[in-house]
Amino acid sequence: MRLEKLGEFGFIARVAELVGEPEGAVVEGIGDDAAVLKTSGDCYVLVTTDAFVEGRHFRREWLSAEQIGMRAACAALSDIAAMGGEARAVLLSVGLPPGEDAAFGEQLVRGLHDVARSWDASLAGGDTFATPAGVWLDVVVVGEVDRPWLRSTARPDDILLVSGTLGGAAAAFHLLESGRAANADALPAALRSRFTRPTPQLALAQALRQLPEPPAAIDISDGLVQDAGHIAERSAVALTIEAPCLPVSPACAEAAVQPDADPVPWALTGGEEYELLLALPPAYADQAVAEAQKVGVMLTRIGSVSKGLGVTVLASDGSPMELPQGGWDHFAVQ
Ligand code: ADP
Ligand code: MG
Repeated sequence: MRLEKLGEFGFIARVAELVGEPEGAVVEGIGDDAAVLKTSGDCYVLVTTDAFVEGRHFRREWLSAEQIGMRAACAALSDIAAMGGEARAVLLSVGLPPGEDAAFGEQLVRGLHDVARSWDASLAGGDTFATPAGVWLDVVVVGEVDRPWLRSTARPDDILLVSGTLGGAAAAFHLLESGRAANADALPAALRSRFTRPTPQLALAQALRQLPEPPAAIDISDGLVQDAGHIAERSAVALTIEAPCLPVSPACAEAAVQPDADPVPWALTGGEEYELLLALPPAYADQAVAEAQKVGVMLTRIGSVSKGLGVTVLASDGSPMELPQGGWDHFAVQ
């Protein structure tokens, strides 16, 4: 079967089947935001890897070298936040065409390192290679956590909370794609920072360590609905999202005005938001919102968990919404 038919997640499912249950030091393997490894100490080690290929994950016309590095670091660190952890070190494999200016490579590394250091994780190693064309990156982040947040622990009656606002990354992409912004620097300020340096929710992860038990969690890198689907699947529950409750980014709503676009589908399916979707018992909801507020992060209740399977999105009249095509699959025909 061709990969474009099997899909990215179909392929990952085959890999997971081939590997089988986690064993040895691996507590959580394929299927969460990062691998969880047992150590001899009290904490678990977290490891995550993310690749970024020019033309697939980013366009050089839109981003400076520094911005490419920053963005890659933020995206990779976000997976550690999604596990409730703290980042400790970053490793960068970088592939560049030999004809490229060395300064481009240095600036890219500087961008990545600046972001990593701002989260107390310095660049501790990597690999360098020549590509036939284009810039390729792979970012590994090593982190630590005492109580890992998993995708698999959502339970019926939990409520769904999402951090920050949604739709900003999709709005930025729309403005760039349509040519209304020539590059990231030409985006409105709120969208520019969202697109070039999205905040990995590591401070939120630390703030929520106060909760009596860890939430189920995922970061929204492929779109809210698709990523909610991963929690539903791993936890064997149904997730209901109420569209009117979504914290749509004001900048996204503004960007949507001109092309008469409705921002809600962007908030539902736009990728690369790097906000966290959490499921936790209603008894802890107020505490979670208050702890998040202390570190300047807004948590919004956007739905609930029940028995069943899959994700339903309800419109303002309570009817299930037809979802627009969306969510990211690397092998899908674009
Ligand atoms: P994320 O978006 O959080 O980085 P992905 O959707 O990329 O996660 O991957 C889903 C899960 O599948 C993760 O646990 C990841 O480690 C695993 N995975 C993806 N590709 C592979 C692969 N080629 N081999 C083993 N595991 C993989
Ligand atoms: Mg993730």
